[in-house]
Amino acid sequence: MPTFVRTEKCDGCKGQDKTACMYICPHDLMKLDKDGSDTGHAMKAYNQEPEQCWECYSCVKICPQQAIECRHYADVVPLGGSVQPLRGTDSIMWTIKFRNGVMKRFKFPIRTTPEGSIDPYAGKPEADMSKIEGPGFFETCNGYRAGEPGELICK
Ligand code: SF4
Ligand code: SF4
Repeated sequence: MPTFVRTEKCDGCKGQDKTACMYICPHDLMKLDKDGSDTGHAMKAYNQEPEQCWECYSCVKICPQQAIECRHYADVVPLGGSVQPLRGTDSIMWTIKFRNGVMKRFKFPIRTTPEGSIDPYAGKPEADMSKIEGPGFFETCNGYRAGEPGELICK
């Protein structure tokens, strides 16, 4: 389900050439309508190709005004409900509104270390490559492969 911008909340990232949502979108879908000629709302961003949206939520999370929302699948959030993140410095608070008025909030910590700084093998032993390079492990038969060569029935 694609994202959409609540124009009453969007401040156009205060006139920056490249807004936060434009910067973050991996598919270059977000656009600032500077003069209002595209949408009738000057200095407001919009999703220019909703059908191409990856639903990655990056724009929803980065928007400093919480102006971007996502329409959700009905089995997750029935019509009339909404899901909205509020980004803090060390956590994201998700507010879930159900269509019957019930509201729930969930707080999750966010990563605070610099991108690329994580060592995924910290504290783990080096991988023993001999265990996967040995004969048989990647043996294939008619295009199929099994971790246990004995499982292959090759004719
Ligand atoms: Fe508007 Fe948010 Fe996009 Fe900034 S990041 S232009 S406030 S929708
Ligand atoms: Fe782009 Fe992801 Fe936002 Fe869709 S959800 S507009 S792909 S940043």
